[in-house]
Amino acid sequence: MVKLTSLAIGCLALAAISLQAEDPMNVALVVHGGAGTIERSSMTPEREKEYRAGIENALRAGENILQSGGTALDAVESAVRVLEDDPHFNAGKGAVFTSAGTNEMDAAIMDGRTLAAGAVACVQHVRNPITLARAVMEKSKHVFMVGAGAEEFAKSNGIALVDAKYFFTPERWDALKKALEKTSGASGKKFIFTDADRHGTVGAVARDKNGNLAAATSTGGMTNKLPGRVGDSPIIGAGTYANNETCAVSCTGDGEYFIRASVAHEVNALMEDRGMSLREACEAALENAHKLGGDGGLIAVDKNGNIALPFNTSGMYRGYLGPDGKFVIDIYREH
Ligand code: ASP
Repeated sequence: MVKLTSLAIGCLALAAISLQAEDPMNVALVVHGGAGTIERSSMTPEREKEYRAGIENALRAGENILQSGGTALDAVESAVRVLEDDPHFNAGKGAVFTSAGTNEMDAAIMDGRTLAAGAVACVQHVRNPITLARAVMEKSKHVFMVGAGAEEFAKSNGIALVDAKYFFTPERWDALKKALEKTSGASGKKFIFTDADRHGTVGAVARDKNGNLAAATSTGGMTNKLPGRVGDSPIIGAGTYANNETCAVSCTGDGEYFIRASVAHEVNALMEDRGMSLREACEAALENAHKLGGDGGLIAVDKNGNIALPFNTSGMYRGYLGPDGKFVIDIYREH
């Protein structure tokens, strides 16, 4: 039995799905491809199909693991890897460019069972930053590694490094050019700089058959960011958090505000300390970032397998494994 509620509160669109708590074997999986969606007016049916296929491929990768009894941790890592390899999303292959024309990627993963976590930031040659984040969690005594040191660690752990050229995509390059011309006003042209030009991120949250939760997030950050800038995605408690006692969360949006509002940990805290439901906690945490001036969204799952996918932007690439075993995939606010 399933209860699906979808509501719009002010500018917040929220979907929450309740799975019956008495079925402890319920697995749950939600993925997002970022709140920086292409404007609906520029979205062609072909493009929409490609984005939906990307989300579906990620869901399939995670679902295969969960249905065969695998861990939530393996499921979120593998779902995120699929999105990192897909040039449509701002992570791995499709990462946006810094103001210096480089790609600097951030990622984090957290195991809700042990509260172990791993994160990397400002890596420039790692094909799958989420796998490096997991290696930091499992193979080092650290939680967070950055830049050259993180890449050295990748090398010594057999994690694929690629030439920086691998991350070049014409769409992201054009977005940087647009951003630079907009800031310098050089061309005299009037550019419309959309959410999709600016940012994006990918993430996954899951609950496995043993009731373990995990969260993973990976991003190229924001177009035209200063080299060395780090967003919320790799910061445990800001863009990524998981705790078996409460929930697993992966965020997307204006990182500076999500950091200041500690959005992912706030969802956990509101559930634990205030006894809020997953949906209420997600809504309140997102509103905290919104009040500071930041927009975006998040995906979350609680210990009973309930899920929430709120966002206050015009859209968020997103999908989840429905209770009937079918994937539900959406981009914009209205269905
Ligand atoms: N949160 C990401 C960052 O600030 C960007 C995004 O999700 O759009 O790096």
